[in-house]
Amino acid sequence: MELNFDNSFAKELKDFYEFTKADKSTSPKLIKFNDSLAKKLGPEWEKLKSDSGLLIFSGNEAPKGSQSLSQVYSGHQFGGFSPLLGDGRAILLGEVVDKDNIRRDIQLKGSGRTIFSRGGDGKSALGPVLREYLVSEAMHSLNIPTTRALAAVSSGDDVYRERVLPGGILTRVALSHIRVGTFQYASTTGDIEKIKALSDYSINRHYKSLLPKKEKYIEFFESVCDSQINLISKWMGIGFIHGVMNTDNMTISGETIDYGPCAFMDRYNPNTFFSSIDTQGRYAYSNQPLILSWNLARFAETLIPLIDKNEQNAIEILTQKISLIQNKYEKAWLKVMSEKIGIINIKDGDLDLINNLLDIMKNEKADFTLVFRYLADFIIGKEYLLINLFDNSKKINEWINNWKNRIEKEGKFDKSLCIKMKKINPLYIPRNHLVEHALDEAVSNDNYKPFHNLLSYVTSPFDEISNSKEYTLPAPITDKPYKTFCGT
Ligand code: AMP
Ligand code: MG
Repeated sequence: MELNFDNSFAKELKDFYEFTKADKSTSPKLIKFNDSLAKKLGPEWEKLKSDSGLLIFSGNEAPKGSQSLSQVYSGHQFGGFSPLLGDGRAILLGEVVDKDNIRRDIQLKGSGRTIFSRGGDGKSALGPVLREYLVSEAMHSLNIPTTRALAAVSSGDDVYRERVLPGGILTRVALSHIRVGTFQYASTTGDIEKIKALSDYSINRHYKSLLPKKEKYIEFFESVCDSQINLISKWMGIGFIHGVMNTDNMTISGETIDYGPCAFMDRYNPNTFFSSIDTQGRYAYSNQPLILSWNLARFAETLIPLIDKNEQNAIEILTQKISLIQNKYEKAWLKVMSEKIGIINIKDGDLDLINNLLDIMKNEKADFTLVFRYLADFIIGKEYLLINLFDNSKKINEWINNWKNRIEKEGKFDKSLCIKMKKINPLYIPRNHLVEHALDEAVSNDNYKPFHNLLSYVTSPFDEISNSKEYTLPAPITDKPYKTFCGT
């Protein structure tokens, strides 16, 4: 099978990878193929919902034109630096320029050992493959920049974790897989030419308009900051907790990547974290904006030699840029949150209005997703939906009066506002208990129906479907807090 590969990373960044072949799968099955994404990639990709597609997605046949490789990177993991990480269980098949003229990486994740596997087996269990498929496609449908899922297969091979599990492979599509950690690797080599090559490649691929700029490396840093500020503010707006915001899991393109122990918050509490390995809550919901700055500061350190021959000058310039991040983030967040409550032109007092709502939600442990969705329904007379989320209706009623007054200062509290708000505030998110149920049925009972059902809801998150109440509700409160485990 010949696909329209055009492999610039293999050609231009020879110091950043090792050619690697995928392992073969014993008896692969295609669990899910993403027709709409394939369509964007081109007509030959649409034909891969077939046996010839399965050969590729299972690692059993290298498509013509692919130059499969594993990329090297370093990374700060939970604050500690690992100089050599790299793709331990993934290979890049190659790049494709899609119908919109956008270059995209096609990667197999879970396809066997690479030289970066260290003690790992290079495999992925089927559960985490399905989780990444569900959550990344949900994020895309929520208009959040993200890598995407083209195919999920079960390999037919056993994967050994705490218990024996069925193996799986995800075919992932990304603007690129270049990470802050890739720059950290370049920096560990101490070779300025390598840092420059990686920067020039990244600018050309992701921030082309900077190419002619005199101070292109400073602007490159700022652009990556802006992309990540935009991303994290959007995560915060939907209650998304990534779970492992290590520098190797932060992209230069500004896409969400590496869905491991990620989860959506249900009852609002800014200190929420789910990951079993995040014992200190370093990557808790409300810490994500602080980690954003921390990670970008690590990125800045790698660029010092390109900014100014005088190291002190370079550090001063970058420090000044880093000092702007929190302020820019707060502006971006305010915009995201204002739009969620129907405000377009932000005025004095709007920040307090939003914070007051969040305070009430926190005290009342109200469901993050439903509060915003039901604010929209409140406008069209379905007040009970919102009020039922709160035990004490006095506080929320006071807040609603203030909100209504604020909206009426510049617009109408009417159906058109409701419709606008429903295009921003989802009804269906990949709720943790639903995801767990879908994965469990697939893995333990070979029953993929809940997975396909859930996927259809979360990839159409704004459009209400009748008789879907169970897909909208948070899990019942139990004594056992929800925990996620790394997707390995
Ligand atoms: P992640 O949790 O996906 O961000 O992975 C962190 C690092 O561990 C990356 O370098 C991965 O390639 C590596 N890794 C994770 N799981 C495995 C595995 N099963 N075998 C080999 N390497 C792995
Ligand atoms: Mg990772």
